[in-house]
Amino acid sequence: MEVHLAGTLLKLLQGDIVEQEVEAVVNAANTGLWGGGGVDGAIHRAGGTKIAEECRRIREERGGCPVGEAVITTGGKLKARYVIHTVGPIWRGGQGGEDELLASAYYNSLKLAKEREIKSLAFPSISTGAYGFPVERAARIAMATVKDFLTRNPAAFEEVRFVLFSPEALKAYEGALMEVLATA
Ligand code: ADP
Repeated sequence: MEVHLAGTLLKLLQGDIVEQEVEAVVNAANTGLWGGGGVDGAIHRAGGTKIAEECRRIREERGGCPVGEAVITTGGKLKARYVIHTVGPIWRGGQGGEDELLASAYYNSLKLAKEREIKSLAFPSISTGAYGFPVERAARIAMATVKDFLTRNPAAFEEVRFVLFSPEALKAYEGALMEVLATA
């Protein structure tokens, strides 16, 4: 599914984040920027040791990356030139500010990409794997946050892509995008 939103092409597709030919891919990282499983493991494996080296430097200089924030490193051997590492919240039932923290993770990743004049970027479904965030709820937050950012920042990017691993996740994101587009 693809739509144009305030001058940016927003695409939802099923695939592997590691394979994307975009300027920056977003990583679902952890606060210590230690490579983990899921998206994080795949990005570090495919991107090589340069990414981990820059993560270590950020950890030494700033203590890592707080939940809801984002940092940038090289893409190493990935097709993408950069990796934007953001940390989504761990789902704990929804009463601990998880919705707002997830929205911040998306918003701060977009903000950092725009500041660096990155023209195309790809997101995975942050927090919905090991971190246990319910995918439909996460999809609505992701789509609403992206729509809000793009509307406030016309033509900020050429393309923003969501790369969903499973057909079920893709369906959830498509449903959420249609919902968000239907509300003014
Ligand atoms: P988190 O720890 O933020 O929950 P995960 O990496 O565990 O992050 O999972 C986030 C989502 O990314 C899950 O829906 C998972 O199925 C999906 N995923 C895992 N590997 C990849 C990949 N290589 N490309 C795209 N999505 C992936």
